Amino acid sequence: MMNNMPEDERIREIYERISEAAKAWPPTTLSYYEGQPFKALIASMLSAQTREEQTFKAMNALFELADNPVDMLQLSDEQIREAVSPVMYFENKAKYVREICQRLIEHDKGVVPRTVDALTEYKGVGWKVAVLTLAVGYGIYEDITVDVHVNRIGKRLGLVNPETKQPPKISEELKKVLPREYWPYWNGLMVQFGRVICQPTYPQCAKCLVRDLCPQINVIKIGPNRFKDAGYA
Ligand code: SF4
Repeated sequence: MMNNMPEDERIREIYERISEAAKAWPPTTLSYYEGQPFKALIASMLSAQTREEQTFKAMNALFELADNPVDMLQLSDEQIREAVSPVMYFENKAKYVREICQRLIEHDKGVVPRTVDALTEYKGVGWKVAVLTLAVGYGIYEDITVDVHVNRIGKRLGLVNPETKQPPKISEELKKVLPREYWPYWNGLMVQFGRVICQPTYPQCAKCLVRDLCPQINVIKIGPNRFKDAGYA
């Protein structure tokens, strides 16, 4: 049964419980590149629609070969392609790696831009990648980074309208209900929580640490202690 506390208290309790539990969960891949804008940009672009472990493999392989735009441009197309081959759409993303490095040097003096508008001028960089790059690379949090975990869990928890699809709108809805000091941590926490408990297809509701605070929107109970997602990725 869901606890009937005021909404701001419910949100604070959800945040605090998940933050505490997350200390024991594996860190997110992107957290390795905090404060490193170039690596954050390349890693964020590579991570799109790709499982974390595959992204991690690709990033390790690529950054082993080169860790700055000048050196990366010295690599052959084949070297870049092979390094990033674990990620989805790696052939396109390998081209983006080169184009990003070229634009960085020719247009921005090798410095990763600090705004969403400037970053989305780069090939392969949409709103989500730009927001993630700013958050990880520079610690700039004007928006909440939205990925599949933030989207899915926000809807199940009743923080986001289940009909909202576009990441910028999901971010706006979350910003209205989450205190400003949570914004930097929300994406990372949801990635960790989404891997361990609130999983995509079969969320672990029966053992969930915020079960009493969650309306389980669009989660269907299908058997003893078994819950299934109703289709929101
Ligand atoms: S109760 Fe279920 S749907 Fe709600 S947050 Fe926990 S695992 Fe996710």
